[in-house]
Amino acid sequence: PSQPKYLTGDEAAIREFIDKFDIFLLDCDGVLWSGDHVYDGIPETIQMLQSRGKRTIFVTNNSTKSRDEYLKKLTTLGIPSGGVEDIFGSAYSSAVYISRILKLPPGKNKVFVLGEAGIEKELQSEGVAFIGGTDPAFRRDITQEDFKGIADGSLLDPEVGVVLAGLDFHFNYLKMAHGLHYLKRGALFLATNTDSTLPMHHGFFLGAGSAMAPLVNASGQRPLELGKPSQAMMDAVEGKFHLDRSRTCMIGDRLNTDIKFGVDGKLGGTLHVLTGVDNKEAWQKEDAVAVPSFYADKLSDLKLVA
Ligand code: PLP
Ligand code: CA
Repeated sequence: PSQPKYLTGDEAAIREFIDKFDIFLLDCDGVLWSGDHVYDGIPETIQMLQSRGKRTIFVTNNSTKSRDEYLKKLTTLGIPSGGVEDIFGSAYSSAVYISRILKLPPGKNKVFVLGEAGIEKELQSEGVAFIGGTDPAFRRDITQEDFKGIADGSLLDPEVGVVLAGLDFHFNYLKMAHGLHYLKRGALFLATNTDSTLPMHHGFFLGAGSAMAPLVNASGQRPLELGKPSQAMMDAVEGKFHLDRSRTCMIGDRLNTDIKFGVDGKLGGTLHVLTGVDNKEAWQKEDAVAVPSFYADKLSDLKLVA
């Protein structure tokens, strides 16, 4: 693939870039903000795109928050949006996939959740029953009775047909043991996302993919991923927003999630910004997982066009 076009400081190139697209899919962490710190000039940049008639859709792999909570965050940080409808999170896309695509049979339609409240809220909003998650009953040490009851099934819920894993800040042996035995009994293995790392203001920590790794390792199964770069997520976004892919651009900071998501989805373009996980060496190397069509030092560099 050809090398990406550098937009920073090049007003003509920025103008051409903006004119090429009607819809911008915006990754959140590493593009708009880092943790609770919004990057300089982001609200104005998003405002500029919207005032030029562009649709801005926020697409995040963070499953720990629901879309409502994301809307609150955008509003608090001063980032204009069209409301909850313009937010697409991996917890939401997973809930929609389970409720509208899987169509689980009655008696096998419960979800065992490894994750936080964001997943629970989105499952609730789609009317999907679940166990696990933030239930304190699963936040304790495993006992000899647990080993026995999980193995013989007496402590398992026979209606569980899906194990859904996201980042769980309380992952432990007891939950992994339940997850393993639901999988052994034929439950489908889904993941909101499998980001290996969790970028935080202070440095890198364990992402969803690392938190669920014990289950992947013990079961020998890989989950069906529903967050970026999965095209299940792209299909869901397309279904909801009726986007013309050729006039849509994905903007992100991570090559193996955001940029791969846009490239695999055959979008009209992808923009890599250097304010998050990956630097430009990531796509300059021979075995790059994806190469963007544009790059910029930061998203607010687009503001050059008033
Ligand atoms: N997952 C979790 C739990 C996170 O906290 C984050 C970022 O904060 C991400 C995933 C990555 O999110 P995004 O796709 O917005 O970069
Ligand atoms: Ca990101």
